[in-house]
Amino acid sequence: MLVLGLETSCDETGVALYDSERGLLADALFSQIEQHRVFGGVVPELASRDHVKRMLPLIREVLTTAGVERTQIEAIAYTAGPGLVGALLVGASCSQALAFAWGIPAVGVHHMEGHLLAPMLEEQPPAFPFVALLVSGGHTQLVRVDGIGRYQLLGESLDDAAGEAFDKTAKLMGLQYPGGPEIARLAEIGTPGRFTFPRPMTDRPGLDFSFSGLKTFTLNTWLQCREAGDQSEQTRADVALAFQQAVVDTLTIKCRRALKQTGLNNLVIAGGVSANQSLRQSLEKMLGELKGQVFYARPRFCTDNGAMIAYAGCQRLLAGQQDGPAIGVQARWPMEQLPAI
Ligand code: ATP
Ligand code: MG
Ligand code: FE
Repeated sequence: MLVLGLETSCDETGVALYDSERGLLADALFSQIEQHRVFGGVVPELASRDHVKRMLPLIREVLTTAGVERTQIEAIAYTAGPGLVGALLVGASCSQALAFAWGIPAVGVHHMEGHLLAPMLEEQPPAFPFVALLVSGGHTQLVRVDGIGRYQLLGESLDDAAGEAFDKTAKLMGLQYPGGPEIARLAEIGTPGRFTFPRPMTDRPGLDFSFSGLKTFTLNTWLQCREAGDQSEQTRADVALAFQQAVVDTLTIKCRRALKQTGLNNLVIAGGVSANQSLRQSLEKMLGELKGQVFYARPRFCTDNGAMIAYAGCQRLLAGQQDGPAIGVQARWPMEQLPAI
């Protein structure tokens, strides 16, 4: 089945063509980061308007790249939530209009299921069951995954998501949006051991997270540096490294705990923060000790993209799922509510 996938949940317009027999045929992305950067974060109304402008040219682009005629497309998958309502509506209405015009089915995909399944597009995909760590701009969750739509939430952030903590912390230190890649880049030249930050909620049982205190801790450290007259680039890098290490350590400790609790030894990491090299290394070391394996997508498919939506949608369409003609999106949508296939 040849599926066109559209992603518009936030500030990236993603389009891809996935074929159940031939795999991923093409994918294209337009990131609005530059437009939102001056505001220090995503402006929802600007995001929606830009998705409208980018969608059709990107669809034409993937068709050309894949050498596919539009008449060969058999179904459309689009992100139906969670995300920014206005942005989601662009993808949903575009999909429903094209599906109606072309006489093919459309299916709404859960954005986090898209992230979760993105590592399936890689050469060595993970096999069920596994534990998934979803770490993105809006989510930090540990999930037991027994199949598509068979998700059991094991723990989640009680406040900021991991990506959000990277973004907010970066902003406090005068770095630009998005903060994750900025902090990661600076951390590379940071001095190990100069600062040590707390590992929130690791000294008590459970699999929940809290990252907002770490952000405040970082701010206080950065302000103390100013009082001491040292906000040099090296000091900024040292603080960035201490912050990143605290996040990575915290995530690693909780992943180890989740694997122990479930008795599983395969871990999938997905979402924008799973692109972080330090996190990947730390988890690989831990899984090496447990004789297990860690799976992740190529960096481009860790952050938002159309390929993950085309893939997840294709699996659900193959199982017979499809939407009615109504256009419906959900800003909030617990992943556990998804039907199993
Ligand atoms: P959600 O998927 O929860 O709706 P989102 O779509 O905004 O949120 P993603 O696109 O998955 O989130 O990821 C973006 C986040 O990933 C941002 O917070 C960004 O800072 C973070 N990020 C990207 N690359 C890195 C990196 N190398 N290290 C740490 N964080 C990163
Ligand atoms: Mg984004
Ligand atoms: Fe996302």
